[in-house]
Formats: sequence, C-alpha cells, structure tokens
Amino acid sequence: MSRADELVAWYRAHRRDLPWRRDPRPWPVWVSEIMLQQTRVESVLPYFARFLERFPTPAALAAAPIDDVLAAWAGLGYYRRARHLHQAAQQVVERHGGEVPDDPAAFAALAGVGRYTCGAVQSIAFGHRLPVLDGNVERVLCRLHRVEEDPRAPAPRRRLWDAASALADHAHPGEVNQALMELGATVCTPRSPRCLLCPLQAGCAARAAGVAEALPRKAKRKARPTITVVAGLARDADDAIWVARRPDDGLLAGLWELPGVEAPDADVRHLAAVGLVGGGDATVVEHGFTHRIWAVHVYRARGTPTTAHHTAVRAVPEHALPTLALTGPALKALRACGVALPHRRGAGRKPLS
Ligand code: SF4
Repeated sequence: MSRADELVAWYRAHRRDLPWRRDPRPWPVWVSEIMLQQTRVESVLPYFARFLERFPTPAALAAAPIDDVLAAWAGLGYYRRARHLHQAAQQVVERHGGEVPDDPAAFAALAGVGRYTCGAVQSIAFGHRLPVLDGNVERVLCRLHRVEEDPRAPAPRRRLWDAASALADHAHPGEVNQALMELGATVCTPRSPRCLLCPLQAGCAARAAGVAEALPRKAKRKARPTITVVAGLARDADDAIWVARRPDDGLLAGLWELPGVEAPDADVRHLAAVGLVGGGDATVVEHGFTHRIWAVHVYRARGTPTTAHHTAVRAVPEHALPTLALTGPALKALRACGVALPHRRGAGRKPLS
C-alpha cells in the first residue's frame, strides 16, 4: 500500500461527518473551503447551512447586493473572503454560465482563489490531482519529512508543495487531501501528536528522531508597531449604540465599528474628530493585524457621530448588533464594555501559497 493509499483508508474509517462531505458538489465544497479558512469547524457549521439556503448557487450569490452578503457572513469575520466569493460568483456567471468550472486554470483565475483553494475545490469536487497546503498539512508534512527549516521560507515551502503534490497524484486526490487536513486537525496536532493512531507513523522521520513536537520550527516574526485608536461608545435616546461604516477601500473596508480615529495618543479629546465628547477611564483592547497592532481606547461618549472618517453612521439596538458586519476590534471593544455578543473566531485552516 502506498502512503496515499494508507491515508485514504484511514480517512474513510476516521473522518468526521461534516455537511460539505455529505454533499461534495462544487459550490458547497467551495463555500465550505472559504468559510473554514481561519475559522473553526464548529463555528462554520451553522453559517454554512444558512448561507447555502440563502445562496444555493453561484448565480444566487452573484445577484445579491454586497451588503446582504456581508450581513449573511456577519459573525464569521474575515469579510474579505465574502467579498471575494461574491466577486468570484459574478465571474462564474459571466464566464462560465453559472457553473463552477471543472478546470483548474479557469477556477484559479477567479477572485480570491489561490493555490490552496484551487487544489482543495478542484480535487474534492472534480477529482483533479492537485495538492493542498494549509497549516495542518504543513505540520504533517514537516514532521513526515523532518523539515527543520522555517516552512515559510521559499525552499522548504517548495519542498512541502512537492511532497503534497506527490501524495495527491492518486486515484482519489480529494480524499488524500482531506485525509492530510483531517490528520493535522485531529491526530498530528501542534502539541502531543498522537503518533500511535497515525497511518503515517511507520515512515515518519520526525517521530523516528523523537522531534515531532518541535516541528515545524518557525522563525519569530518582526515586531509590529502599535497604533493608538480612540473610539467612543455612545448611545442614542433609545439606548441604541452608534456605529460607523469604514471607507470602501483599505483596512477593514466597508465594515462597521465604534466611531473612532487613529490618533497620536489616547487623549479622549480626539473623539471630537468623529463628533463625540467622551470622558472617564478608557477600556483598552488590542487587536493584531499582519503588519500592525491596534490599541483601541474606548471611552463612554455622547453626541451623534459624524461621517468625517466614515461612509455612514447608524444607531443599532444591542440585540441587532450580531447581524451587522462588525470589525474584529469592534467586537472585542463591545464585549470588553459589557455588550453581550457571540464569539466566532478560532484557529481554522490557514491556506498557504
Ligand atoms: Fe504526525 Fe506522529 Fe503521524 Fe508523524 S507519526 S505524521 S508526527 S502524528
């Protein structure tokens, strides 16, 4: 039995029963792959069913206004995924008559489709022999081949893609790929990998050398600058909370947040830039982006915010906030200020290119 055969046999016996596996048509598979990026399976489950009910085909999504799409995505976070999926659905309608193309090159040309998404959807839904490499697969392959270098560096990255390609060159590439992802999620976990349950244990170089848990080795990232943001938690006469929509371009484009601005320091008077007057002690939350960290200082405030730094403002009752496409920092800030909101994020799939 080849390694890929062993993976497929293990996968068939041990895979979790998930809705997109029960219905491996291209559109549900695509939606699931996008939703699972950076988000845990348990968080995706309710959204997946609702989203497909609302947008059962690419054409249905393509025809919807972007605000409806973002509202259906509200709570999942990382809204750029929803924008790309919407745009890609429109391209599928224009270029492919509404059918997800059974053609890796055509699929890879759609908005938001990188090498990972292309490999996942084209292998699972159409049986193309293409690899996937996400954070889970990276860990499994780093250990299997005892890759000691930082897997984000170009040479080891190529080696990992090659190893993934060799495995996916199989009669059932979709199952091989899902087996690798499942193995990383459930057996070859970051800490305490359960090697005795692993179908790859006999040939695993890291296990043989006793270094499994130490891999993959990642170099520390450069320190990110911290930017101060001053924001106001203000309510209208009906106790609804004022939120403001960010510009359509740039960081967190088009999402809703507490009215606020980036500022040189945390002085409450910076709230005047968004038309508010604040006071008291600030509640401070931090939020990390790839290249910077925001330290958001939230003051209790009064007044009606202006649109000087935003495209719209709106007062929203607390119970309706979960239906709004809120930024991650806004969610943290609202929670820290005692507003009850559901948690949504988690370490899900991290597609690698
Ligand atoms: Fe991971 Fe252990 Fe399997 Fe190697 S044997 S791939 S370290 S679970």
